[in-house]
Amino acid sequence: MKIRDILDNKRTVSFEFFPPREAEAVDGVVDVIKGLQRFNPDFVSVTYGAGGGTRAYTEEITLRLRRETSLEVMAHLTCVAQSRGEVHGVLERLNAAGVGNVIALRGDRPADASLTTPGADEFAHATELITHIRDNFDFGIAAACYPEGHTESTDADADLQYVRMKQDLGADFLITQLFYDNRHFYDLLERADKAGINLPIVPGVLPILSTAQIRRFTQLCGATIPAELDAQLERYAEDNRAVREIGVEYATRQVQDLWANGVPGVHFYVLNRAYSITQILETLNLDGHRGD
Ligand SMILES: Cc1cc2nc3c(=O)[nH]c(=O)nc-3n(C[C@H](O)[C@H](O)[C@H](O)COP(=O)(O)OP(=O)(O)OC[C@H]3O[C@@H](n4cnc5c(N)ncnc54)[C@H](O)[C@@H]3O)c2cc1C
Repeated sequence: MKIRDILDNKRTVSFEFFPPREAEAVDGVVDVIKGLQRFNPDFVSVTYGAGGGTRAYTEEITLRLRRETSLEVMAHLTCVAQSRGEVHGVLERLNAAGVGNVIALRGDRPADASLTTPGADEFAHATELITHIRDNFDFGIAAACYPEGHTESTDADADLQYVRMKQDLGADFLITQLFYDNRHFYDLLERADKAGINLPIVPGVLPILSTAQIRRFTQLCGATIPAELDAQLERYAEDNRAVREIGVEYATRQVQDLWANGVPGVHFYVLNRAYSITQILETLNLDGHRGD
């Protein structure tokens, strides 16, 4: 089923996971995902390592979920540092396995100097990947957008013009990068509307697990941590349990506010840990069915 068809009928709750570094850990990740089925996510997704390494496990987990569960699975696919043929091969395998949806991404260019500019045989941007998918397959297509702008972008409006291009080329919904101040998301909605973007924009929410980790993540993706939250994280920097509780409480309030403001769904960055998402969903009991 196309996720866009689900979004047209209800507000979605979805979970994102990442592949492990070692083959022996694949079963553990699959078990966590299966354990979270009781929350009836509308779809789950598995990230794709732009730097290589774990890509085979992304495919393995995605295909196993497809075979072993009734979950709707969306595959992440990045195109940097791979030939068009390699990317096409992944799409063919996903298609053959009956995966119905792909989130089309560029990915971050690996630090290796020889890989820092796109090769002639590469899709340079998500826009090119979207075109390739639309021209050759029948997947539902998601794409990324950034409430606080993309790190390489110097002009927020130009950034949105590329998002508009993703829409025009055939993306059928958007998922945002993480953010910790909902005003960034609401501001994005206003700017997107002015840029003629009318796709559903699903906010991505990451319940914080550790101070060092979230500082690293936000620095990498260009998101900011509000001063008050950051002060709390600093205070408990050496106590991951306390930070996890702060993360649960913060994400619960964040999602409550987003839901009350009519978002089309919420996409949780689960980081392969069941605890926080369980606490949040048990508290919120989100009901995505539309009233009429
Ligand atoms: C929901 C979500 C899921 C993600 N999943 C993964 C994952 O599984 N694996 C992973 O490695 N990373 C993932 N990322 C991170 C993502 O790969 C990085 O943010 C990457 O730097 C940009 O990817 P993109 O698809 O937004 O790229 P693009 O849309 O190509 O944008 C990258 C930059 O180029 C500019 N741009 C866009 N289109 C064009 C164009 N046609 N011409 C010129 N400039 C252009 C944009 O303004 C932006 O500054 C995810 C991000 C999000 C928000």
